[in-house]
This record gives sequence, C-alpha cells and structure tokens, in this order.
Amino acid sequence: MKLFSVKGRSSLNGKHQSGAERIASEKELDKVLTQINKKITRKPFDYLSIKVSIIKKQPPVIKTLKIVEIIADSVEEATQKAVELLHSATGLSEKKIKKLIKTVHTGASPDGNNMRGAMIVNQKGERIELDPFRGVRTTEVDFIDRDKVLQKLKTKGYTERTLDALAISSKNMSHPDMLAEFCISDEPDYLTGYIATKGCYYRLTPLKEKGNPKGGRIYFVKDGVNIENLYNYLEKEAVLIEYTDTD
Ligand code: AMP
Repeated sequence: MKLFSVKGRSSLNGKHQSGAERIASEKELDKVLTQINKKITRKPFDYLSIKVSIIKKQPPVIKTLKIVEIIADSVEEATQKAVELLHSATGLSEKKIKKLIKTVHTGASPDGNNMRGAMIVNQKGERIELDPFRGVRTTEVDFIDRDKVLQKLKTKGYTERTLDALAISSKNMSHPDMLAEFCISDEPDYLTGYIATKGCYYRLTPLKEKGNPKGGRIYFVKDGVNIENLYNYLEKEAVLIEYTDTD
C-alpha cells in the first residue's frame, strides 16, 4: 500500500504558529489534507505550507504507550508529580528538572517565544538540541486505523490531542536513547499535559496555568546519545503505531 507523509505548518511575522504531521494512504489523502489544513489555520497566519511526500520504505509497527490519567488539585501538585516521574526516569535532580520546566512555561526559544519543536536535555541537564530556536520535531508517525483509535479514546474521555500526543510520545520512547518526555500545550486554555517514560504516558491535569500561551516539549536523553542519529530517527524515519487496549 502506498503511504504518504503529510506535513503542514503556519507562521505569522516569521513566528511559528502551528504544525501538524500525519501519515496517510492514497485513499485517505484528501481527507488528511483537509484535517491538516483545519488544524494549522486555527491561529492567525500569514504563511502556510503543506508538503506531501511518498514514504519509500514500509514503516515498522510499534506498540502504543499505556495511558495513566492523573488529576491533581493544582498546577503545583501536578508539576511536583511530573518532577518526581522525570527524576526517577532520568536521574536528574528535582531542582534541575524544575528549572527546565520553568523554561517551557516562559518560552524555551532563546527569543522567549515557543519553539517549533522540542528541547533535548541530557542527563547532566544540558540542552543539546542543534538549533535552540527550532528544536527537534517528531514527525513521520501515525496510528494504524487512526479513526477507530480516536473513537476508542473518545469513549474513554480523551481527545484528538491525546491521540496525536500519544503517537508522538510512543515514537519518541521507542528510541533506545530516549528516557522521558515532558509536554505542555501552547494553547492558552488547554491545561492538560503529559510525561512519557518507557512504556507509560502519564496524562496530567492541570499542568499549566490558564491563559498562558507558552508551551513546549522537553526530550530527556541518555548521555552519549548520537544526536544526528536521534534527529534522523525522530524526523525522517516513518513509524506506525498500533493501539492495544491496556485497561
Ligand atoms: P502542542 O502539543 O501541539 O500544543 O505543542 C506544544 C509544543 O510542543 C509546541 O509549542 C512545540 O514547541 C512542541 N511540539 C509540537 N509538536 C511537536 C512535534 N511534533 N515534535 C516535537 N515538538 C513538538
């Protein structure tokens, strides 16, 4: 079956606004183009690009992470839980993790804006992404039977955002040098974030204050990671995700 990588992004005055990436069969292509267009035109924009390219090699199939839902009473409580999960997955001190999380809440790009992609942090707590304005972007990933998986997640009270985030984090965690991930949305009113570790996707609410337009992702990696190899896997190698009901 022919598969296509579909990537869209929008910007305003040179600033990244939103992005969306999917894998589509030939039959689904029109539908996916419409869905991507809808997603990246939600925020104001003066530049829009949608790129379609064929995937040359049949992608490997990997299993989804298991979703664990955590509802906290406050952002402080959810953040503390996130810090503990990240500490045990990475070995980084809680103090360093808190400082990194603060960077995401205030704009992790050197100009104080949101990054287009994720920060990469090693076990010494150093940022090692090749371009700190852009970061690394996990693309070339989608669910097998995406529509069915979405329906299933919706019956459990989850959303399409959960679906997209689960695809990204499942691909991320399948790389041997990835230890954990932290994510909060850049949507001011979307307060649910997540931590991914090997095997688990912890969905945490509320992980940010209402009204904050800043958000981002931190990828925690092993010391000694081959950064070019990591970029190549996350940005260029197509992967399909298989959803299995874990509850
Ligand atoms: P979102 O979950 O779409 O609200 O994105 C939150 C933040 O995560 C964005 O502001 C980006 O910094 C980062 N981000 C979004 N999509 C990706 C991706 N595919 N790979 C890496 N980082 C991403």
